[in-house]
Amino acid sequence: MKRGAIICAVMAIGFVLCAGSFPSAVQAKTTFITIGTGGITGVYYPTGGAIAKIVNNKRKEYGIRCTVESTGGSVFNVNAIMAGDLEFGVVQSDRQYQAINGMKEWKDAGPQKDLRAVFSIHPESVTLCAAVDAEIKTIRDVKGKIVNIGNPGSGQLGNSKDALDAFGIDWEKDIKAEQVKASEAPGLLQDGRIDAFFYTVGHPTGAFKEATAGRRKVRFVSIAGPEIDALIKKFPYYAKSYVPVDQYPGAVNESNVDTFGVKATFVTSAKVPDNVVYAITKEVFENFEDFKKLHPAYAVLTKESMLEGLSAEIHPGAMKYYKEAGMMK
Ligand code: GLU
Repeated sequence: MKRGAIICAVMAIGFVLCAGSFPSAVQAKTTFITIGTGGITGVYYPTGGAIAKIVNNKRKEYGIRCTVESTGGSVFNVNAIMAGDLEFGVVQSDRQYQAINGMKEWKDAGPQKDLRAVFSIHPESVTLCAAVDAEIKTIRDVKGKIVNIGNPGSGQLGNSKDALDAFGIDWEKDIKAEQVKASEAPGLLQDGRIDAFFYTVGHPTGAFKEATAGRRKVRFVSIAGPEIDALIKKFPYYAKSYVPVDQYPGAVNESNVDTFGVKATFVTSAKVPDNVVYAITKEVFENFEDFKKLHPAYAVLTKESMLEGLSAEIHPGAMKYYKEAGMMK
């Protein structure tokens, strides 16, 4: 009996020691990070997935475990990173600029001083998609129509307001504006509950495949002309862009549709440790050809283009890699 009790006690102590030491040893080594993206039918969500995949491949080397979260988009991502709820996020270049300078959604909160740039990614086009039966052939035709301009927290909400404003259309008075998520807009369009929607996104993307594949015929509407030239002059974070309609055979358009656009960028906070940002930057750039294959919207990427369109200070962890790689001095 006595001997049995001693053996039991020794085993129990051993168990407690093992249970106590193993998990903490693993936890001490693993850094958990989350990337904020956008709706699952956009390009941000697979972009977060592509970055996470490349970084998680080296989990043993860096001890980083990266996960991806679907969110409301750029503005939400900036705010969640600043609040410490997310470590990284994909954010439109115009939104990065506005956040760092305390403009638009950040007018009251002021400059988001801790926001840091890591790299930029694919181009995004401000895309207007309308039902053919709504007779919207030019952006001016949206007057009086039900138009989704983007959910609060999205990047596109600012772009659709700018586009409408450039043509003298008051979004509060001249249209019936909806503010739902881009992932819901294609369904609403097909159900006849909206006439058109704006989405600032890379192409091709699931949302427009869905919008153009239904029974209700749709077209992409051009957002170009002297009005947009003036807008680009006023806000240099905008550039000319187009919608590649061959990616959406269901749309009635026969040639590419002119519009304007921005760039998707990858951002973080000054509070995220250098070694974590360094690891992500290094893995994306050292596996550049593999990364490019992960989404057709990356076809145009070059390493140099991924350093353009950044307005926040580059995070020191990313800078360390760019210097090592001779990409920056
Ligand atoms: N540009 C959109 C935004 O900032 C998201 C696009 C996407 O998810 O690909 O909200």
